[in-house]
Amino acid sequence: MTATSTAFAPPGVRITDTTDEVLAALAALGSDATVMAGGTEVMIRLRRREIDPKLLLHIGRHSELRTITEDAVVDPDGGAAAAALRIGATVTHHDLLADPRVPELVKITAERIGYPQTQELGTVGGNLIIAHPADLATPFLVHDAQAVLSSQAGTRTVAVADLMLGDRLTAIRPDELLSSVTLPTLPGAVTGYRKVGRRGEMDAPIITVAILLQFGTGATITDARVAVGSYADVPFRARALEQALVRTGLPDGPAIAELSRLADLGAEAVEDVKATARYRRTLLPRLVADVLTGCLARGVDR
Ligand SMILES: Cc1cc2nc3c(=O)[nH]c(=O)nc-3n(C[C@H](O)[C@H](O)[C@H](O)COP(=O)(O)OP(=O)(O)OC[C@H]3O[C@@H](n4cnc5c(N)ncnc54)[C@H](O)[C@@H]3O)c2cc1C
Repeated sequence: MTATSTAFAPPGVRITDTTDEVLAALAALGSDATVMAGGTEVMIRLRRREIDPKLLLHIGRHSELRTITEDAVVDPDGGAAAAALRIGATVTHHDLLADPRVPELVKITAERIGYPQTQELGTVGGNLIIAHPADLATPFLVHDAQAVLSSQAGTRTVAVADLMLGDRLTAIRPDELLSSVTLPTLPGAVTGYRKVGRRGEMDAPIITVAILLQFGTGATITDARVAVGSYADVPFRARALEQALVRTGLPDGPAIAELSRLADLGAEAVEDVKATARYRRTLLPRLVADVLTGCLARGVDR
């Protein structure tokens, strides 16, 4: 009797120089091709044989995808267009940190992704396509960022909130490339971020919390945005908490603790190798209260 084993053929690698070249290959090969940007995730999944593509399409050298430019987003209700940044898909975490136009919340998140080597190689596009757990998800959710997806059939724009469907699962089609993310910059906002990982902040997250508040005159909160990552099977906005914050005015310590319990309303904590669901449920309101307290103190002091 002969032992059988699953044959594993290493994929071919194509170093691409233009988006058109990638889109043509994706149109021809679909899910037989895997896009590789920094490769920090793809290489691990290949080694573990979790993916088995025929061809790796390396996009890390495209200068056209590695740019940050100023842009504007149109208000669907007819108001003034808002300032935004168009962040190319192969912009690395290190590039985000080096650019003074990138909002503080995104920078604070980027500098806690993995190690310096991960930040040097890892890209915005690669992070978002991992979907869960992806640290950039929460700041991008509070900024209402939009993902631009390109294919030979054209370009479509999807809210980052709708892009992420689950653990390494997104709404991107096999023939599409994430080409950029449009990020409204929201000047004047007060923001805060916390990440808890098993081995500290530089590790894959157990929970991430990003908060953005806008203050009006007379100590009022005019806009509250709270995003939670790695808690449920997709990152989400804590809408009940956001609405309560705008209604309540400036909460004090006990009110902050009470409001923070609303953060996971409608969301189910996941159980995985990093933490139990119970641990996540216990930790989340404390993290939210902590970030909220910091944002309120800074907002009131201005
Ligand atoms: C040691 C280590 C620590 C890490 N720590 C963290 C952490 O703390 N937080 C965190 O969030 N992540 C972490 N990661 C995961 C990962 O490194 C980062 O998320 C990184 O940003 C992924 O980017 P990349 O360019 O390397 O992705 P790649 O490995 O190139 O690609 C990842 C996925 O995205 C797809 N993809 C990439 N670019 C595109 C595109 N433009 N269009 C369509 N599909 C695309 C690929 O096909 C693949 O499925 C860590 C990884 C390592 C190895």
